[in-house]
Amino acid sequence: MELVVLGSGGFALGTGREVRHPAGYAVRIGADLVLLDLGFGDLRQLARAGLDPARVRDVFFTHLHPDHVGDLAALLFFLRYERRPASGTLRLFGPPGFKGFLARLMAAHRPWVAAKGYRLQVVELKGGDRVRGRSWALSCLRVPHSAPSLAYRMTDGRRSLVYSGDTGFDPGLAVFAAGCDLLVLECSAADGQARPGTHLTVSEALSLARLSNCRKTVFSHLGEGSAAALRRLRGLPERFVLAQDLARFRM
Ligand SMILES: [Zn+2]
Ligand SMILES: [Zn+2]
Repeated sequence: MELVVLGSGGFALGTGREVRHPAGYAVRIGADLVLLDLGFGDLRQLARAGLDPARVRDVFFTHLHPDHVGDLAALLFFLRYERRPASGTLRLFGPPGFKGFLARLMAAHRPWVAAKGYRLQVVELKGGDRVRGRSWALSCLRVPHSAPSLAYRMTDGRRSLVYSGDTGFDPGLAVFAAGCDLLVLECSAADGQARPGTHLTVSEALSLARLSNCRKTVFSHLGEGSAAALRRLRGLPERFVLAQDLARFRM
């Protein structure tokens, strides 16, 4: 199982070396390639990482903010005109409201993003739901954010990966992530920068990381403020790392 970071940033644009692609992750799990979010430009990041977008069979969106769904139209456009999904099927999963969102997106881009020559399945998920792949299983947790938002936990039966999506502080997330091999945890803001309950500050992210006690925690969805604050910290355990675009983590 391997995680490839397509975008280690979020809504904030950043400057200079701190310009990061928005949220997007590819998971290589068995023979499958699964995407968790796909922000603006992340389809090209997938190609840069040497991964074939036509191999994607499942995409899980945590929520419908543009920094997480920005390249959904790009993916559908690619699959209509350049390549078909290798498996003949594309499954799109999202939080409550996803079906209506997708219908409006397709209407706006009609006919250029409509599925042609393959089967498109669209599924709305809620907290507690489970999804099975060929060699993996995924479960969902509702997390606090300014839009209906889910965290995901994936396992191949041996290793497990948790992705927080965007979230405010919630001890339930630490329970959901407990003991996993890799936790991808949002850390959008330096202390005092975030609107409480919508994103994690550095202190909140560190607290959740400690509570979860995962083998490795990758802080992502970084802004300039949070990245700088994390770098300034001394004595950070080795199992806590900052995400970078195109970084790879093997489990
Ligand atoms: Zn975001
Ligand atoms: Zn968001």
